[in-house]
Amino acid sequence: MKKLTITRKKFNIVTECKYLYFACALIHIMMTVLFYALNVKILMTVNLLSSLFYILGSAFIPKKPKMQMWILLLIIEIIGNATLCNCLLGWGYGFSLYGIMLIPIVFYFVYLEEQTNRRIFWATCVAFIDIVIILMFGTARFCLNRLNYIDDQLCSVIFMVNFFIACCAIAFYSLTFINEMGAQTNSLNKQKDELAYRANFDLITGVYNRRYFFEKTEKLIKENPDIQFRIICSDIKDFKLINDMYGDDMGNKVLMTQANLIRKCVGEKVTYGRISGDRFGICIPKDYFVEKEFTDNIDEMKKLFTNCSYHLHIYLGIYDVTDRNEPIGIMCDKAFIAIQSIKGDYQQVVAYYDQEIIDSQIRKSQMVNEFEKAISEEQFCIYLQPQTDRHGKSYGAEALVRWKHPEKGLIPPVEFIECFEEAGLIYRLDEYVWEQAAKQLKIWKDKGFEDIYISVNISPKDFYYLDIYQTITNLVKKYEIEPEKLRLELTETALAYNEEDIIEVIMKLRDAGFIIEIDDFGSGYSSLNTLKDICADVVKIDREFLRETENMKRSRDILELVISLSNRMNMSVITEGVETSEQVSMLTDMGCKIFQGYYFSKPIPVDEFEKKYM
Ligand code: C2E
Ligand code: CA
Ligand code: CA
Repeated sequence: MKKLTITRKKFNIVTECKYLYFACALIHIMMTVLFYALNVKILMTVNLLSSLFYILGSAFIPKKPKMQMWILLLIIEIIGNATLCNCLLGWGYGFSLYGIMLIPIVFYFVYLEEQTNRRIFWATCVAFIDIVIILMFGTARFCLNRLNYIDDQLCSVIFMVNFFIACCAIAFYSLTFINEMGAQTNSLNKQKDELAYRANFDLITGVYNRRYFFEKTEKLIKENPDIQFRIICSDIKDFKLINDMYGDDMGNKVLMTQANLIRKCVGEKVTYGRISGDRFGICIPKDYFVEKEFTDNIDEMKKLFTNCSYHLHIYLGIYDVTDRNEPIGIMCDKAFIAIQSIKGDYQQVVAYYDQEIIDSQIRKSQMVNEFEKAISEEQFCIYLQPQTDRHGKSYGAEALVRWKHPEKGLIPPVEFIECFEEAGLIYRLDEYVWEQAAKQLKIWKDKGFEDIYISVNISPKDFYYLDIYQTITNLVKKYEIEPEKLRLELTETALAYNEEDIIEVIMKLRDAGFIIEIDDFGSGYSSLNTLKDICADVVKIDREFLRETENMKRSRDILELVISLSNRMNMSVITEGVETSEQVSMLTDMGCKIFQGYYFSKPIPVDEFEKKYM
């Protein structure tokens, strides 16, 4: 399994010191044994102490061994060597050497506060002086030959061993020196690494960022012409809600967990990265891909993050690479298009970019191409679905758009709304529909039917393209109608994002006399929050609550609660999707007074509505 971590080459002083100290300890132990055998007690003791020091040193090397280490080493070396000198050369020589050895210590403290590399310089000097002293001692020993209780051979051994220890000290100082210098270059390298890391990796999850993922994937596909690759992209449903409801930290945690799961279930010849927000991409050889492994991992993740108020759902879109020269961005787009086809469906997790999707893509692009002509030729019209009391008396209607296509006939909105939303065209259609509704209200007003209202739908996307307040107030002015007759339906999911400027616009409209309806109430996550944050006038309960499911009982309980809550908050309730008389009586018992559904009427053309309800 290949982990995507960058390795920075680093000299580890702690480990190096441990080895050095351990080697020194071993030498001193050997010397202790040697002097024990030779029965030179003083040298034996000195060496025993030295070896103990080195053993302790190697066990307790601090995380950042610096000055303390040198001081200790110096003191030990000085005491050791000076004792040796005292023993071998007599006290006079011994103490003068002591004095010489103290000079670097003084220097060392003088420069203690200065730059690190200066300290190292002096510490290295100490090591050199140390070895010079030992050489002097050796020379003195050989030249003066003042000792007569140890023979020449033993003397050479002592000299050699001491020389070796001094070499170790030098090595230690030099290594520390190199390390410090290295640390400086390391810090430069680290900065370079850091920059490279920021440029190529996602800082939250540690996986490749979009650009680098595309780059690596392109390389992977090009370098392995014999392997059939697959692009898998993932998308978390309503990820923004996690951030909004539980904070960014929780959002990041979700992303990190997902990145870790991806790491867990991919192997060699695989690239993966975070493409944007909650979207990840993976490029994997087709043969390695086991759908179950991925969905199991998603289930595992769902368990971690799903609670009573949030239900985590991750979609996977899969695209088999056919044209290797296609830009990776387009390949990922295709995987996301596959996701688009199952978005909103909680039962599905995986979608493949297949012929059906290609066809639907073609249909969508045809619709987008035809939009301009359709608008100018007035191919769009409104159907009205009455909102009635339990006896079928209508107080108003919802305007639902239909496309009277010259070749394809009447197209229902489910087939084009989403497509126009994606294409950024919905605001043009909505503007058109609102105007049709306003026009109709004016006609009725002139005919004396002043009381009837029309509700129009406002897509969340409209807020990005239009000055909704201006557009709508201009309409009522232009057609001289009462604002309360043009009711405004906003979906609960659009409101749930709680974007301040959206709420501000809605409140301004409400102040101007428009009636605000929360559409599809109960279909999102934060229905109650929406009620809390937005002063709406009407709650339209989503038709899902009336659907025959296993959870009928729970749906009913919720229905009852929402109705009584809304009544308590002085909001009227409209239940959508009413199809049977049983539902009408049940809802009436619960306190609902207005209904919209096939039981009373399907959406019908305006003239038919006029005939039936006016
Ligand atoms: P919506 O706003 O929730 O509209 C209600 C939808 O439920 C309508 O579908 C209506 O025909 C359907 N419906 C009503 N009663 C029943 C029932 O008893 N049973 C069942 N099964 N369905 C019922 P429609 O007209 O196909 O519209 C679908 C969606 O398209 C609308 O859902 C709305 O979100 C969108 N839409 C329609 N017209 C417009 C528009 O002018 N602008 C925008 N932005 N969206 C629109
Ligand atoms: Ca609606
Ligand atoms: Ca609705």
